[in-house]
Amino acid sequence: MTVLLEADHLLRRYATRRGMLGRPVDVRAVDGVSLVLEAGRTLGLVGESGCGKSTTGRLVLGLETPDGGEVRFQGDAMPPPGSAAWRALRARMQMVFQDPLGALDRRLPIGVQVAEPLEIHAIGNAHERAARVETLLRAVGLRPDHATRYPHELSGGQRQRAVLARALATDPALLVCDEPISALDVSIQAQVMNLLVELQDRFGMGVLFISHDLRAVRQVSHRVAVMYLGRIVEEGDPDAVLHDPAHPYAQALVSAIPHPGRGARRIVLQGDPPNPADRPRGCAFHPRCPVATSLCTMDVPALKRRPTDGRLIACHVAHGDVPAGGGVAEVKEAA
Ligand code: SF4
Repeated sequence: MTVLLEADHLLRRYATRRGMLGRPVDVRAVDGVSLVLEAGRTLGLVGESGCGKSTTGRLVLGLETPDGGEVRFQGDAMPPPGSAAWRALRARMQMVFQDPLGALDRRLPIGVQVAEPLEIHAIGNAHERAARVETLLRAVGLRPDHATRYPHELSGGQRQRAVLARALATDPALLVCDEPISALDVSIQAQVMNLLVELQDRFGMGVLFISHDLRAVRQVSHRVAVMYLGRIVEEGDPDAVLHDPAHPYAQALVSAIPHPGRGARRIVLQGDPPNPADRPRGCAFHPRCPVATSLCTMDVPALKRRPTDGRLIACHVAHGDVPAGGGVAEVKEAA
């Protein structure tokens, strides 16, 4: 498989102020994230809101500049954001946002908006663009006459199809989808995910699929990476991670998925995710971890490969460095 995108130890910090005296604090939204996406494949990035997954998506597209690390696209370092080389590359990398209504301009017909990237990148003449718009609308399951409609005249699912058509207009090699189904009705979500898989088969783009929903990620992804507080804590085959999660945070995520009749026990994590401006020492998950040990409060576990199955895991206990301790999570029988 050809490597499409590589991110190496990405770091993104934000300066903020805390407390009555407004003490400056360095918040690491993304803290040493490395990932590899192969051409024509999907990497799912999953985690709670605020874990840094959307920032990671913006960093790999060059929409934000990393404070450390490097992004390589098709083997070459990402040009500086805003440069002519970066703008030219943007035709090969597109983003699909969570809210299709917010992503579309309410004042413009759908056809004009689908053709917009072609105009920006000066691709084709007017006749060729019109033909391309028709092809794209059909590819995403819309009719050619949807080109004359306005966003408010379409359903939520149709709007997200139009957003996908626009994202595919320039035949991108990379699509970053940031929570692309979470604003849609549940009945529509499966249709959009199936469409994404069909479009990938047809157009062959690599997809970074960002979601808080592990089931959705599993449905579309060839690999899945679980993020917690700015770091990847587990990465592997989606089925393996879902059936046998190794990191205690991934175990809690999986146990929260309703599964009638499975009889599994749900791990209820205590407390909210920690404030990134006040990252716990050692493993950032240790205040909520059911099996934390004293080592976990002092030593940051490295993301390393488990020899038995090649899965990447950042956990002292999962790697057998120490026996499991007694942490704080509560375990409940699933209803
Ligand atoms: Fe982190 Fe320790 Fe829990 Fe592993 S066992 S997730 S290292 S706190």
